[in-house]
Amino acid sequence: MQSLRFKALEKLSSNPTEVSVPNSTKISPIFGENVFTLKTAREYLSDEAYKSLMGSIKNGRKIDRVVANQIATGLRAWAESKGVTHFTHWFQPLTGTTAEKHDSFFTLKSDGTALEEFDGAALIQAEPDASSFPSGGLRATFEARGYTAWDPSSPAFIIEIGHGRTLCIPTIYVSYTGESLDYKAPLLKALAALDRSAVDVCNYFDKNVSKVTATLGWEQEYFVIDESLANARPDLLLCDRTVYGAAPAKGQQLEDHYFGSIPERIYSFMRDYENEAYKLGIPLRNRHNEVAPSQFEAAPIFEEVNLAVDHNTLLMDVMTRVAKRHRLKVILHEKPFAGINGSGKHNNWSMATDTGVNLLAPGKTPKTNLMFLTFFVNTIKAVHDYADLLRASIASAGNDFRLGANEAPPAIISVFIGQYLTKVLEEIEGRVGDKFDEQDEAILKLDLHRSIPELLLDNTDRNRTSPFAFTGNKFEFRAVGSAANCANAMTALNTIMGDTLKTFKKEVDSLIEKGEKKEIAIMHIIQKSIVDGKKSLFEGDGYSNEWEKEAKKRGLPNVKTTPLALDAMVTDKAKALFQNNGVYTHSELEARHEIELEKYIKKVQIEARLMGDLATNHILPAAFRYQNVLATNIKGLKDIGMAEESYVTQKQLLEKISTHINIVNENVEQMVEARKVSNNIADKREKAISYNEDVKDKYFDTIRYSVDKLELLVADDEWTLPKYRELLFLR
Ligand code: ADP
Ligand code: MG
Repeated sequence: MQSLRFKALEKLSSNPTEVSVPNSTKISPIFGENVFTLKTAREYLSDEAYKSLMGSIKNGRKIDRVVANQIATGLRAWAESKGVTHFTHWFQPLTGTTAEKHDSFFTLKSDGTALEEFDGAALIQAEPDASSFPSGGLRATFEARGYTAWDPSSPAFIIEIGHGRTLCIPTIYVSYTGESLDYKAPLLKALAALDRSAVDVCNYFDKNVSKVTATLGWEQEYFVIDESLANARPDLLLCDRTVYGAAPAKGQQLEDHYFGSIPERIYSFMRDYENEAYKLGIPLRNRHNEVAPSQFEAAPIFEEVNLAVDHNTLLMDVMTRVAKRHRLKVILHEKPFAGINGSGKHNNWSMATDTGVNLLAPGKTPKTNLMFLTFFVNTIKAVHDYADLLRASIASAGNDFRLGANEAPPAIISVFIGQYLTKVLEEIEGRVGDKFDEQDEAILKLDLHRSIPELLLDNTDRNRTSPFAFTGNKFEFRAVGSAANCANAMTALNTIMGDTLKTFKKEVDSLIEKGEKKEIAIMHIIQKSIVDGKKSLFEGDGYSNEWEKEAKKRGLPNVKTTPLALDAMVTDKAKALFQNNGVYTHSELEARHEIELEKYIKKVQIEARLMGDLATNHILPAAFRYQNVLATNIKGLKDIGMAEESYVTQKQLLEKISTHINIVNENVEQMVEARKVSNNIADKREKAISYNEDVKDKYFDTIRYSVDKLELLVADDEWTLPKYRELLFLR
């Protein structure tokens, strides 16, 4: 029987998939048409209900039951006008994907009357039967009680799948006792913590500021490949990553894919998913090819963090679904192909006041310069003080293939700020001990506003190696994994920023109490923070060995693997930080730590199994078949009396193949035994470490090396798994 590989190849060349995509007109008319925006709310809600909803969105005020009923009724009317029959509480459990359980509006009354209904209770809270979502022991499984609770700060929306339309209510997911079981609840708490401290600090400069929101603009990288080819790769199917595959003759060395023209089939897929995204109010702005073949990127206009996080998770989901229509497969994994760039998700982050000021945009006047410097320097200090926590927030089995492996960015969390700002900070630092008086405001008089963007322009290409880079009016956290939920990184970043600002304020206030003038006091604490944080500043090549040595000298953490990186989540320092800022209780942190370890273990376990299965069911049989071909050939030549030298090549080849077969087989068997040992370790952390060291590190590369050699030795028509060149260059 022909293997799936050849069927897929045949299909690909004979029957290019055509999907009609809606003609692109302007985007604005469809933008947000499937979202219960404030404008829609105005239309469908009574004054009272609308005001109450606004109060909840703006100030987190509680919505009472009666009003909730009114809002639910308005929501249903709107949804039904768009052909919706079902609703769901949409949430982001710690599995990393989104979850939904659809209920219909339809119900039967006690007298048998059939009608459509959606009330406040159903809007506000639900209890999904979610016993199998990870809870790290917070919710005993037999009890299975987790609740989803409406998050009014993110608007409801309608998802269209095929002919079905579902009203999705964004919710947080908590246990019976109130512990958070998802990514969103802690994120909202972290954002609130940042808001509180940032407003306090802003008020030094502007009394009118009453709210600070963190902003996020993510850049999502992903691969797209043909679906039939993907289906012929069990590893892609089950773990979104190729565990085997020899490097193709042509990889990304020509860099001809980067910013090149987008292939037609991909282009029509992009237009299709973008259309869906626009209807969902996701403000996509950029699309382009990435460095690796078949790798692409999408980025929206930045939004308030909570909404941006929802939009990112929603987009990952939409892309995956729309791809199916085009017989394509989206791969969100951080490192789907060895030897070729992996995918990340840059998180561009800043803070904005309700007076319309971007707090990381350099000021135009001495006073706004000082405000900028305050937030800028506090960010550096926060990243420095909690580098280990940021590292933990982006740790995953997939991201380990980027961070700390031979790929950008490194696992050392450093901050890039560009030459100009480095000089500014050095100058301020140099004045320690000096009195800052009114005459000595030279630094504040610097034209930061104009100078910084210009000077950064020269550097932006060079600093691609930095995991945390200032890019003129925002920081870019580049180490986030492409498959991750940004909420994890954003919860950490906003919490540490909130906490650092809180300390900053305390210190400034104490100087003011001692009689120092406000600006001078601020300047002094800025100086101190520069001294504290400067060890994390680095302008050079983040991939270089020199940096690794230098970072070690500076005492910066450089943790390369997830099981160890996660330790930072449960240090006393982390526990105090999250507790003091109302983000996580100790038990929530412990639970999360355990869940992350468990996720890691399962991922490595699945990959290890797959490597074994593929070796036994695909690789070795192909090698055996080709061995037979060679053996028959040799025997035939011998039989007709050919001299030995006429089949030396065949013999050598046969020997090489046999050697690799034995290596693969022996190591797969040993790996199975190693897994058994790891599986018997009770302690989660020890087990994760063992999976990393005794299973992954010890066997993955060895087995892969020989399998990939076999791929190059065995006749192409015997090989059943689609090869890299086919996965990456055919579409
Ligand atoms: P790049 O050179 O990395 O492509 P861009 O200027 O295109 O940089 O911005 C990348 C992302 O940063 C976009 O998603 C953009 O919306 C976002 N961004 C811009 N300003 C801010 C901000 N103040 N806060 C958060 N994200 C921002
Ligand atoms: Mg970028």
